[in-house]
Amino acid sequence: MRVYLDNNATTIVDPHVFEEMEPFFVQKYGNPNSLHQFASDTHKPLKEGMQKIYAGIHAPNEDSVVITSCATESNNWVFKSIYFDYILTGRKNHIIISEVEHPSVIACAKFLESKGCKVTYLPINSEGIVEAHTVAAFITDKTALVSIMWVNNETGAIFPIHEIGEICKAKGVLFHTDAVQAIGKVPVDVQAANIDYLTMSAHKFHGPKGVGALYMKKDKELTPLLHGGSQMGGHRSGTLNVAGIVGMGKAMEQAADSLDYEMHDVKEMRDRLEDALLAMKDTFVVTPREKRVANTILVSFRGVEGEAMLWDLNRAGIAASTGSACASEDLESNPVMEAIGAEADLAHTAIRFSLSRYTTPEEIDYVIDVVRTAADRLRGISSSYAYAPDGHDCGLSTGH
Ligand code: PLP
Repeated sequence: MRVYLDNNATTIVDPHVFEEMEPFFVQKYGNPNSLHQFASDTHKPLKEGMQKIYAGIHAPNEDSVVITSCATESNNWVFKSIYFDYILTGRKNHIIISEVEHPSVIACAKFLESKGCKVTYLPINSEGIVEAHTVAAFITDKTALVSIMWVNNETGAIFPIHEIGEICKAKGVLFHTDAVQAIGKVPVDVQAANIDYLTMSAHKFHGPKGVGALYMKKDKELTPLLHGGSQMGGHRSGTLNVAGIVGMGKAMEQAADSLDYEMHDVKEMRDRLEDALLAMKDTFVVTPREKRVANTILVSFRGVEGEAMLWDLNRAGIAASTGSACASEDLESNPVMEAIGAEADLAHTAIRFSLSRYTTPEEIDYVIDVVRTAADRLRGISSSYAYAPDGHDCGLSTGH
């Protein structure tokens, strides 16, 4: 059996999405900016694709949604333009992010830091969540931007985006959220949450890879990252990715239609898996379930090196993740576990299982069996773990 539980890394393209994209490769392949029928053939599908993306995040027509190549580009765009528009000009000199942002945000913040910008890295609490009051505490009249992710990619923790949006609005500070792991998992409404900039990426919600977007509120448009043409209303140059936009639109529509299934049926499967994992001794989950999206579990197995567990799972056809970059001589710990201050040996044992609407109950049963066997095997050969067969009480927090 092959089981894919690495949906926070990327997702299968929904067959309906694929079907809608297909004509734009070999039939309707015109450049939308050209002056002939091949170009005109793309105009209506492009418009409809964009409308679906606007609808998916409740963006009003007067605001801008600009298609990019990925979330990494969208995040880079925000930070680099904030640098050009606010920091370089001397208007502001400070930004705030959390210490558990995706590397595409952290690396941008560090780049700005290297250019003289002050950066506050907000901590997470013991449940892996950024508390809104910490944002308020660090904003000054020199703060140009607050950038806090909506959902953490490792733990699935949902951050208090509405409260943070309120705070930023009240203090007159621009607010960006990386919503890559939120789309299709929680309701996303840029107006209700007072968001100025929002990053998304189609391949995280059953759309194609190579297409992302940046939402920008009216009158808060950023200096373009890519200059060169008039595409996307002059916000981003480069020939439009027609198939990608059509696919992202369809994926967004499907995500909205599947949200209930995701939040209830996927959650039921996730909870069953989690119950089984936590019934094993010495297993540990950080963020309580009700504070997480429905598809994610980050679980630590004391005495089991994360990469070793991944190896056993992979041999049994199961895809999961450790959430850390694996260098051959140097096994890194999970960054969120580190930020929480987890003991070093636990931080090395975290495995992320991320489900999707394509996950089946039979797959979950199979994964439970394989994980139990793998944990027993690996604890049995561990030099640091006092091995006793499974079935003893778990002495640690269970994440219920
Ligand atoms: N932001 C978050 C929270 C992510 O999880 C990811 C991908 O893992 C990204 C950004 C980067 O997305 P992309 O692959 O579209 O650049």
